[in-house]
Amino acid sequence: MNAVRQPDTDATPSTRDEAWFAARASRGVQGLKAYDPGHDLVAFRRRFGQSVLLELGSNENPYGPSPDARAAILDQLHSLHRYPDPLGADLKRALAAKHGADAKQILLGNGSHELLMQLAQVFAGAEDEVVFSRYGFAVFALATQAAGATMRIVPALGEDHPTMPLGHDLEAIGAAITDRTKLVYLANPNNPTGTWFGRAAFQTFMAKVPAHAIVVVDEAYAELADAGADVATALPLLASHSNLALTRTFSKAYGLAGLRVGYLIGAPGLVAVMERLRESFNVNGPALAACEAALGDVAHLQWARERNAEQRAALSGAFERRGLRVMPSQTNFVLVRFGPDTARIEAALTQRGVVLRPMGGYGLPEYLRVTVGTVDENRRLLAAVDDVLAEVRA
Ligand SMILES: *Cc1c(COP(=O)(O)O)cnc(C)c1O
Repeated sequence: MNAVRQPDTDATPSTRDEAWFAARASRGVQGLKAYDPGHDLVAFRRRFGQSVLLELGSNENPYGPSPDARAAILDQLHSLHRYPDPLGADLKRALAAKHGADAKQILLGNGSHELLMQLAQVFAGAEDEVVFSRYGFAVFALATQAAGATMRIVPALGEDHPTMPLGHDLEAIGAAITDRTKLVYLANPNNPTGTWFGRAAFQTFMAKVPAHAIVVVDEAYAELADAGADVATALPLLASHSNLALTRTFSKAYGLAGLRVGYLIGAPGLVAVMERLRESFNVNGPALAACEAALGDVAHLQWARERNAEQRAALSGAFERRGLRVMPSQTNFVLVRFGPDTARIEAALTQRGVVLRPMGGYGLPEYLRVTVGTVDENRRLLAAVDDVLAEVRA
């Protein structure tokens, strides 16, 4: 006996709005808010013109990629009618050689955002918990909710902590792991705080994590950390911990954000299971070729790293001289405390074509995240900040 089905005759854009469809979405998606990419840069470029606009909101590399990457893309233009290598074998081989890993340990993603989402889809379901830090990268919460799993958000270290203000509290994160924990997301260094944890602390943490919980370290900024800084990477612990994986990206230090390529390194078995949910041809041909070429140009990466470190120090000092608190950073951005007038300051900067990243969505409304630009960009930024601070404080 079939129930009488009513044809959908009264459907109009107003009766079938977002709420109507959301009520029909899976439980995880019902509570989800889409990723906030910051200001509408396309509209800003139209309004200000690219030479006036200062784009310092998305932690991109202002120096751009290696010239070898550009050349590799041009080389690809004759074969755009062909599907790319579905396995990305050449890029995986190059990554494996660089990191002393096996190609079977590497999974490629259309950006590391995709991989972070896929991890939760693969490993976490309705009965499971995912653990991460307050002020951890925004995608951790998105991925967990989309998978329908429960978020266990661990309080961050205090703002007065000497080396890691607002950073991951590894001890508390470890203590939050239960029998239901399937995944633990860490970011080192973390966005948006810029904070990082060291090798000893990470080793101690991993020694206590039970085997059923997979730890993922998002290392999007690893290449930008100072050579002498104690910033842990998961790489040396992969051999002894099969429940550990890391993600990296070509979007930041390599200057290839426009191509959308990230990668994961982990146990071959973990990668094989992740492959089951990978979309076919998820990394395009020009991107595969450009990333392989970029990996070969070690000098360009080194140069970008040094320029960034030098400008990060200069910019941090300049903010501090203006009486603004700057969080320590091993990345290409700094988190700056502008205080109770932050919203007004941000709006005034935006009016001048200076795009930074507001932090209200992260629960840090008195802060702005500032990407470290070139010498010239930072000079223009500080001039605008001085202008705006004088206006707001008057
Ligand atoms: C920028 C960023 C990423 C990179 O994302 P892609 O999708 O690879 O561009 C990942 N994690 C963090 C913490 C980031 O800041």
